[in-house]
Amino acid sequence: MADLRLHLASRNAKKLAELERILADHLPGIEIVGLDDVPAYAEPVEDAPTFEGNARLKAQAGVAATGLATIADDSGLCVAALNGMPGVLSARWSGQPKSDERNNRLLLDQLDDVPDERRDAYFVCAIVCLTPDGQELLVEGRMDGRVIREVRGDGGFGYDVLFEADDLPGRTTAELTREEKDAIPHRGRALRAPAPQLAVALR
Ligand code: IMP
Repeated sequence: MADLRLHLASRNAKKLAELERILADHLPGIEIVGLDDVPAYAEPVEDAPTFEGNARLKAQAGVAATGLATIADDSGLCVAALNGMPGVLSARWSGQPKSDERNNRLLLDQLDDVPDERRDAYFVCAIVCLTPDGQELLVEGRMDGRVIREVRGDGGFGYDVLFEADDLPGRTTAELTREEKDAIPHRGRALRAPAPQLAVALR
């Protein structure tokens, strides 16, 4: 039996796998359960105006429903030429049902007239870890880059096929290896930074 159980309030398989890989490195012996591993509960409407606020809503609901320390994230793409949009609306920017392909087409259309030197954007990820006794840990990670003009690559998820990170130019984040993606991006950074604090909070 694992001596630490942590609930990740997500059922996005790619996101879960990414978070699990990173956390397992830092918290050996941890047992991580996802939304599909716990009894179903009513998930909150993500209507906060900030990434942090949405992550907190999801973590609070997870703790209340499972009694387990819960980690929840909210993330998105902020494009300078679009005044920070799609931002907290990233997942559902082109409407329901959620579709990465439709979102990416909308992004390309919106930026059609925007010249290369004004296509700056960043991924941001806010992570809230909440324990049943009310301790909260909040971290935010950010990855700067730019939106390119055509879809490239088949890894990653979401807007990865249109995003080149400043730290690894020339390829989209959908063309990076797993290790490269873990090492550079916002989510990996955000999770690694507080891993020691997280370990203390959970024990
Ligand atoms: P969330 O599930 O509410 O956090 O939605 C995040 C959305 O932002 C995803 O559905 C993607 O469209 C986008 N997104 C966030 N992080 C990334 C990333 O690292 N790569 C690609 N898309 C991302």
